[in-house]
Amino acid sequence: MTPAVLGVDIGSTASKAVVLGDGRVLAATVVPVGAGTTGPGRAIRAVLAEAGLERAAISRTVATGYGRNTLAQADRQVSELSCHARGATALWPGVRTVIDVGGQDAKVLSIDASGRLTSFVMNDKCAAGTGRFLEVIARALELDVTELAQAGASAAAPVEISSTCTVFAESEVISHLAAGSPIADIVAGIHASVASRFAGLARRVAPQPPLVMTGGVANNVEVVARLSERLGLEIAISPRSQLAGALGAALYAQEDATQPGGIGHEPVAKPAPQTNYLTGQLGPCTAGGPARKGCVT
Ligand code: ADP
Repeated sequence: MTPAVLGVDIGSTASKAVVLGDGRVLAATVVPVGAGTTGPGRAIRAVLAEAGLERAAISRTVATGYGRNTLAQADRQVSELSCHARGATALWPGVRTVIDVGGQDAKVLSIDASGRLTSFVMNDKCAAGTGRFLEVIARALELDVTELAQAGASAAAPVEISSTCTVFAESEVISHLAAGSPIADIVAGIHASVASRFAGLARRVAPQPPLVMTGGVANNVEVVARLSERLGLEIAISPRSQLAGALGAALYAQEDATQPGGIGHEPVAKPAPQTNYLTGQLGPCTAGGPARKGCVT
């Protein structure tokens, strides 16, 4: 029996955790709050409970994501790029392009035939074209972000959303509402707008098939469908798309646990032990990632 390992993806918006053991996923959890909240602690407690394991049964823990350096109990931290590439390759062997859209940024990763990450592009300067953008718009429409896909599916004549800024796009949405446009048409206009942005980002790496989508926005099947149309490429998604980063982290943990002395045992700088995932108390984010200067937060 291989030892159980834990991967934790502390995102800007959601905390994800995966436990691997015996070569399979024993449990996986998403908590919809991220770095600097009780989310990471809750995700870890929930995933251990689902796996039926005590914390002591976990032999290695790898943290990734925007808040990865806040989890003092992690044996090491690995970048989101590496973890999403690793997780996506495990979910879809042979994948060549990964479009990862989370709460505050969008990334497109190119992977070679051997599963190695070769290049990437990233948009983390503005909330527009991220999960946060969709949340702001959903709120303006009195919807939950999880309801957007269904709400937009029945559109007869999607409206045009011309603004690329979240604040202005929200104003446009409110104008369309005031003018009596059907909600379905407004939502479909928003989906077309974000799909156009993702397609523009993806084209910067000349996306090769097979192409997959990871991150929470992959749960919105209408966005995935519009993006697929724009790129003229099929896009695979999975119920585990949002867990790809945590899965990748767990796979790094598994490698560390089973290959002592290997690359996974490089010494890493750890933050002061100020995070206690058992209580869910998080200390200040020490080096969670690049400064975010989105026009909407
Ligand atoms: P991060 O790693 O930055 O925290 P995630 O990859 O976990 O981001 O994605 C979080 C985003 O996913 C949220 O902003 C939310 O908009 C979106 N999301 C999560 N679940 C759904 C869903 N069921 N339908 C649509 N969007 C979703």
